[in-house]
Amino acid sequence: MLEVVCIPVLNDNYVWLLHDDASGQTVAVDPAVAEPVLEAARLRGWTIGQIWNTHWHGDHVGGNAAIKAAAEAWGGCIITGPAAEAEKIGTLDRLVREGDSVRIGDHQAVVMEVPAHTAGHVAYHLAQDHVLFVGDTLFAMGCGRLFEGTAAQMFANMQRFAALPDDTAVYCAHEYTQSNGRFALTVEPDNAALQTRMAEVDAARARGEATVPTSIGRERATNVFMRARDVVQLADRRAAKDAA
Ligand code: ZN
Ligand code: FE
Repeated sequence: MLEVVCIPVLNDNYVWLLHDDASGQTVAVDPAVAEPVLEAARLRGWTIGQIWNTHWHGDHVGGNAAIKAAAEAWGGCIITGPAAEAEKIGTLDRLVREGDSVRIGDHQAVVMEVPAHTAGHVAYHLAQDHVLFVGDTLFAMGCGRLFEGTAAQMFANMQRFAALPDDTAVYCAHEYTQSNGRFALTVEPDNAALQTRMAEVDAARARGEATVPTSIGRERATNVFMRARDVVQLADRRAAKDAA
């Protein structure tokens, strides 16, 4: 069985610690920083043997080097990330591309290239486990900013994600849900699923709880970027959100 632990760091980042009971292996996904991630593992008696990076931004790779250094005490840590961003992430040991697979114990994650937020951004899809790590490409009710790519690329990414099973758990790298939901309601004010979800999200945030993971099914119902009918509509919505 896979366990996923949420580690909130910095302003609004989530680092995900993925643990496989059977093999005892642990993966840190997008460690923005090292110490809270090492501590979360230590508390559980786990040792981090892999890091999976989705893209080169500092708030996703900042903890790589220090975790790798600490891992010398338990046999090392292999850092995997997008081949297309290898020049920007100096700490990578293993470069991956579309369709490559990485493993934690007997669980397989297939790499999806989802460029747009950054030019080489990847997601990690554990299909058998119905788990998807999306970095900064898909957010709860939102999508990543188009820093190095186009609306057409992001539209294609959203279509790919939307085609995955509804019960796929989606682990995003930021808590942007309330802001995204407020914007989504300006686009689809009559969307009942969106209204209900926003009430739940507001209540969860008032209690200080994370609103991630989300699911593909929930995003299909409430994410106005995934629901955009074409590239132009996605581009318009992204531009409006950027200006909001
Ligand atoms: Zn980013
Ligand atoms: Fe980020």
